[in-house]
Amino acid sequence: MELALAAFSLAPGLAVGSFLNVVAARVPRRRSVVKPASACLNCGTELEWRDNVPVISWLLLRGRCRSCGTRISALYPAVELATALLVAACVLAFGLSARMVVAAAFCAVLVAVSAIDLTHRIIPNRIVVPAAAIALAAQTVLSPSPQWALGALGASGFLFLAVLAYPAGMGMGDVKLALLMGAALGKTVGVALMLGMLLALVPAIFLLARHGSKARKMGIPFGPFLALGSVVALFFGGQLLDSYLALMS
Ligand SMILES: [Zn+2]
Repeated sequence: MELALAAFSLAPGLAVGSFLNVVAARVPRRRSVVKPASACLNCGTELEWRDNVPVISWLLLRGRCRSCGTRISALYPAVELATALLVAACVLAFGLSARMVVAAAFCAVLVAVSAIDLTHRIIPNRIVVPAAAIALAAQTVLSPSPQWALGALGASGFLFLAVLAYPAGMGMGDVKLALLMGAALGKTVGVALMLGMLLALVPAIFLLARHGSKARKMGIPFGPFLALGSVVALFFGGQLLDSYLALMS
């Protein structure tokens, strides 16, 4: 039953992903996400419906604009596919529940923030700050506990100290993203932070090996790694935390 529901949620998931692409393209430029209709960023031609079908249009057009032939980033179908799979995973993991809605919304924000951080190297306050407030309120109402507020304060406080210690590494955007992560994940936010930092080490070591000391100036966007760690913590954080605590005792 859940599997069928998850499969049915793929289509609305793709539609949400398509909207997240609009958010990711317009919010950093401070433009409306409602109007005007989507258009090619290069030639300005408005997209017809057949060129605006999630994932499929990009594949049919082979990643190029129909009018001017300019390349369309593979990030667009990636955002749509990732959103659809995450929404389906939330349905599978949490069933049709308020918890599922919060989890899916959290995933959607993580996808949008990752896409924006990858393309613009910023994490917009206008997305993460309201999302953190809503997540905190929703989680506290759904399962009353201080863990959501403590998670938000703890995670953002931890990254704030990291920014103070090593300003070249992370930014205040990451600190505010941690606020959202803690509010949504509660006590498993530690798992998300730990995984995020471990995952970010992979490209950091690669850059260092390739470019030596110059790599210090090539900052890597940290948001997508925090988002990846958050997704793992959302679905497996409880088990990971339990097995870690069992190892320690
Ligand atoms: Zn074009």
